[in-house]
Amino acid sequence: MLELDAISTRYGVVNILNKVSLKVDEGSVVCLLGPNGAGKTTTFKAIAGLLRPYEGQITIYGRKLADIKTEDLAGLGVGFVPEGRRLFPEISVRENLQIGYDALKPKDSFKQALERVVELFPRVGERLAQDAGTLSGGEQAMVALGRVLIGNPKMVVMDEPTLGLSPKLIEEYFMTVERIHKEGITVLLIEQNAEAALSIAHSGYLLLKGQIVASGSAKELLSNDVIKHLYL
Ligand code: ATP
Repeated sequence: MLELDAISTRYGVVNILNKVSLKVDEGSVVCLLGPNGAGKTTTFKAIAGLLRPYEGQITIYGRKLADIKTEDLAGLGVGFVPEGRRLFPEISVRENLQIGYDALKPKDSFKQALERVVELFPRVGERLAQDAGTLSGGEQAMVALGRVLIGNPKMVVMDEPTLGLSPKLIEEYFMTVERIHKEGITVLLIEQNAEAALSIAHSGYLLLKGQIVASGSAKELLSNDVIKHLYL
């Protein structure tokens, strides 16, 4: 589904990712863990086509990313939830969702697509007319995910979606991720909350200083010494 094959990136002369390989199979939840500065957002940007690796290759649904224009990525069924949510604060929740809908062009009408999102996030439904910038952090996280789900993606790639949320909201957020996975969406979850992420992921990778230093099933990673030392 999604495969990174030994990609390396640099900013100027500084190497940031060094031969990073990872694989996300259809129907799975995979997490990419790593401390601050490890290169997680850089990996996200590379997958979103915002940053071109100078070596290695990214394949999405059998197509080389290098051959796909960024604006055509949505047509492949991949949705991206960027770090910091990136909502438009001065327009309503409904308008933010409309932007996601227009970008991803799903088959159902906006009204039907909106109903799908509201069913998943009733709180969002109560706040459609409110300016997005006035929502709580937890509500903004729901809208950021809703803005992608409204496009009916096959896969969602999320960059630290729970950053800044309370433990209770983090738990709720991960329950939602489990739910969308059960509905058939493949998930790549880029996270610092290792324990919570590994509780819902099937497998994962640990990125340290731009390199994958551990990978395996969620169970294997939970007993990995480096991960225990860093997080648990
Ligand atoms: P965090 O959890 O803190 O967001 P991260 O794992 O997402 O960290 P990245 O944002 O990918 O880390 O950054 C990896 C490294 O690349 C860091 O050392 C960072 O300072 C550097 N970096 C990121 N963006 C740029 C840039 N535009 N120019 C130069 N260096 C950059």
